[in-house]
Amino acid sequence: MNNEYFTIQQASEGIWGVISVPGSGSLGNSAIIDLGDLTVVVDTTNLPHSGALLRHTAEQLTNKPVKYVVNTHFHGDHVNGNQQFMKSEFISTVWTRDLLSDMGEVNIDLMQQNIQKIITSLNQVRSTQKDPHMLTEIDYDLSVQRALYDAIPSLCRVIPTITFEDKLVIQGTKRTIEVLSYGGGHSLSDAVVYVPEEQTLIAGDLITTKTIPVIPYGNPYAWIRILKRIQKDLKVDTVIPGHGEVSNSDRITDVIRFLENTITYVSGAVKSGKSESYWLEQGVLKGYEDWHLPQYFRWNFRWLFNSMLVQNNR
Ligand SMILES: [Zn+2]
Repeated sequence: MNNEYFTIQQASEGIWGVISVPGSGSLGNSAIIDLGDLTVVVDTTNLPHSGALLRHTAEQLTNKPVKYVVNTHFHGDHVNGNQQFMKSEFISTVWTRDLLSDMGEVNIDLMQQNIQKIITSLNQVRSTQKDPHMLTEIDYDLSVQRALYDAIPSLCRVIPTITFEDKLVIQGTKRTIEVLSYGGGHSLSDAVVYVPEEQTLIAGDLITTKTIPVIPYGNPYAWIRILKRIQKDLKVDTVIPGHGEVSNSDRITDVIRFLENTITYVSGAVKSGKSESYWLEQGVLKGYEDWHLPQYFRWNFRWLFNSMLVQNNR
């Protein structure tokens, strides 16, 4: 079942985490759920090619075609494999559907130009780094960007047709899933899939395992509120995160702490009066140096620092 793009980790009875191999290009995790009489896939990875392997794996594991695909949010590493599920129905929040629809057809030249810019800036950052972990992670990121660059000419946008506001329930013969949204935190609109019988949460990018969460264009304050609500409302034993290994509910606490620590750190940086470049030279926030995707901390810092500066100048 494992391949160059992902490993399969059984999370609980009838539920499998599809965990991205670092640097392979698949980037985002997915999940496969066997509801008894029907199969659901959550998120479709970053590449059409890994999406095809995901569908094949889901059919093999559950001996059924995939009836529904849930897109937890609109980011490419969770939706770019959608086109491999043309016989399935797609589910997302109303807002995620609208965001995907507003993006329109794939503009190959524009997307490739943007990726080229990301590759250039990653190479610039790489040339200033000495830490072996940071260098390895940047190299993974570069190979992900190159794989996506090559895949873009074959990419087609697939827009969900079944939408919901805050809750949608799918009842199977063996188990039931709740597709839930508490608004946007990581993105403008984030959904999770909860399986009450197995106390398992498929979290999209609201929860990561030892991987720097991506804050830009989200809302870290709302994100903390959403995670605290999940802790209060849902009994969670097992988490399939958007990035990193299958884990348990401790990862919810990890992300809350990360967001709180980042907000405190960046607001201190803003108050210090020192420049953005001074702070960027300080590297990754202490305690998180060994997490995956450490290069995203820079992006988080810049976005939050500049958002807070704009707020202060109002
Ligand atoms: Zn995301």
